Amino acid sequence: MSTNEDRLKTLIGHAKEYGFVFPSSEIYDGLSATYDYGPYGVELKNNIRRYWWEAMTKLNENIVGLDAAIFMHPLTWKASGHVDAFNDPLIDNKDSKKRYRADVLLEEHVAKYEDKINKEVEKGRKKFGEAFDELQFRATNPNVKRSQERIDAVEGRMKAALEANDLEALRQLIIDEEIKCPVSGTANWTEVRQFNLMFATELGSVSGESSTIYLRPETAQGIFVNFLNVQKSARMKVPFGIAQTGKAFRNEIVARQFVFRMREFEQMEMQFFVKPGTEMQWYESWKAKRIAWHRALGISEEHYRFHDHIKLAHYANAACDIEFKFPMGFKELEGIHSRTDFDLGNHEKLSGKKLRYFDTETNESYVPYVVETSIGLDRMFLAVLSAAYAEEQIPAKEGSSEEGGVRTVLRIPAPLAPVKVAVLPLVKKDGLPEKARAIIDTLKLEHKCQYDEKDSIGKRYRRQDAIGTPYCITVDHETLKDGSVTIRERDSMAQQRVPIEHLARIVGDMVDLRGLLRQL
Ligand code: ATP
Repeated sequence: MSTNEDRLKTLIGHAKEYGFVFPSSEIYDGLSATYDYGPYGVELKNNIRRYWWEAMTKLNENIVGLDAAIFMHPLTWKASGHVDAFNDPLIDNKDSKKRYRADVLLEEHVAKYEDKINKEVEKGRKKFGEAFDELQFRATNPNVKRSQERIDAVEGRMKAALEANDLEALRQLIIDEEIKCPVSGTANWTEVRQFNLMFATELGSVSGESSTIYLRPETAQGIFVNFLNVQKSARMKVPFGIAQTGKAFRNEIVARQFVFRMREFEQMEMQFFVKPGTEMQWYESWKAKRIAWHRALGISEEHYRFHDHIKLAHYANAACDIEFKFPMGFKELEGIHSRTDFDLGNHEKLSGKKLRYFDTETNESYVPYVVETSIGLDRMFLAVLSAAYAEEQIPAKEGSSEEGGVRTVLRIPAPLAPVKVAVLPLVKKDGLPEKARAIIDTLKLEHKCQYDEKDSIGKRYRRQDAIGTPYCITVDHETLKDGSVTIRERDSMAQQRVPIEHLARIVGDMVDLRGLLRQL
C-alpha cells in the first residue's frame, strides 16, 4: 500500500476514534460516500464555516447572505445547464470491474509527466546551484521538453474530445496513452459513457415527468434566482456579492477518499455581480482574496497551488482551482470562476422575468456578469485536519508532567480548534474540581471549554492533543493558596504559571477568530 493511502487511513482512523467523522449509518455497515460529523467534527466544521462567513459578510460591506431552499423549481436546472450537461464521462475496466472518470484518469496520467519534469528541475537546481535559471532550464532541457510536449499533446486531445463531447476520442486517447487500471493493471476498457450526477425525486404523491424535482447539485442557483430579491431588499449596488453556505448533492460515481468526495456535502459559495467587461479584474481580485483567506490560517505555503482549468465549464470564460496538498496528493479545494451572464441570462429566458440591474449613474440596464468563489466545507475540513495531524516522539523526562513516547497532536489553527481550553484539576479532591469548574464558568461564554479529571495529567494532555485543544489549564494545591494556575500550550508544550485573572486575555488573544480576520 502506498504511503499516501496509509496517511489517509491513519487520518480516517483518528477522525473516527476521536469523534470527528463517523461513517454514515455505520451499524448497517455504512452508506458509501456519506459521513456524519461527531462532537469535535461538528465544532471544527462550524468554526470553518464561521471563518468563511465572517470573512465574506462582515469584512465586505457589499456582500450579504442568503439561505435558499435545497429544492428548487425544476426549470432552474434546465436553465443552469445541469439537466443537459452535468455529466461525468465514465469508463470501466473489464477485468477489475472498477469504474473511473475518464477525464480523471487522463489528468492523473498528465500529473505523472509533471512529476517527471519537477524531478528534472530539482536535479538541475542541485547541479547548478546559485546560477540556476529555471525558465531557461525548462525551455532547453531535452527531458523536460519531451515531457512537456507529451503533456501538451494529451491535454490538447482531451480538451478537443471533451468540448466536442466525443466519447470515442476520449477512450482512444486512454488507449493510445496506454493507461492501465491501477487495480487490474490491464488496459481492457469499456466504452466511455455519460452519467448525470443529479439526484432526482418526486414532489408530492403523484409520480411522473412533471413532478420530478432534484436535490440541488450546487448552492449557486439559489443565489441567481434570488438576485433581484436580494439586490432590491438590501439596496445593493453592482458590484456586490451574495454569500451562502449549505448542502449540495451529487451522485458521484467514483466516490472514494473520505470526505473529499461525498454524495451529500456542504458548499460555501459567493456570487459576485459585476458590470460586464469588468469581470477579469474582479476574477483576479477574488483569486488574491481567497488565497489570502487560506494563508491566514498559517498552513505552510507549499500546501497550496493554483490550477487553471484546461476545459472551461459550459458557463465560464475563465476558471481556476485552488488546489491543496491532501494526503492523496494535490486536489481541488476551491473553484474560482468567471461565469459571465450565463446563469442570469438563461433564467431570464426560461422564466420570462427580467433579471437586470438598472445603473442609476449611467442610466443603463444590463444583466450583470458573475465571478464566483466556491469552496467545499468538507474538503476544507479535510485540508485543516490533514495539515494539522502530526505524530511526534517525546522523550520521557523525570519529573515532567508530559508523558514520554509517541504523541499524536492536531495542530489545528487555534481559532478553528473544536475545544479551546481544557481545565484539569490535579486531583479529584481538596476543592480542586470546584476551583476548576469556577474557572470554566469564567471562560465558557467566550470559548468552548472542557473539564477532565480522569487519569494522570500527562494522559489528559495527550487526550487534548489528539483533539487539537490549544490550551490546558491545570489547577493544583498552589492555586488554592495564590490563585495561580499552570497553562500549557499544545504545540510547544511550554508551561507557565499565571494568575487566574490573566487567563481570559491569554486564551482570548490566541483563539479569537478576529485574529484571523484581522489578517485579511
Ligand atoms: P471535482 O472536479 O473534484 O468533482 P468540481 O469541479 O465538480 O469538483 P465544483 O462544481 O467547482 O467542483 O464545486 C465547488 C466545490 O465544491 C469544489 O471545489 C469542492 O470543494 C466542493 N465539492 C464538489 N464536489 C464535491 C463532493 N462530491 N464532495 C465534497 N465536496 C465537493
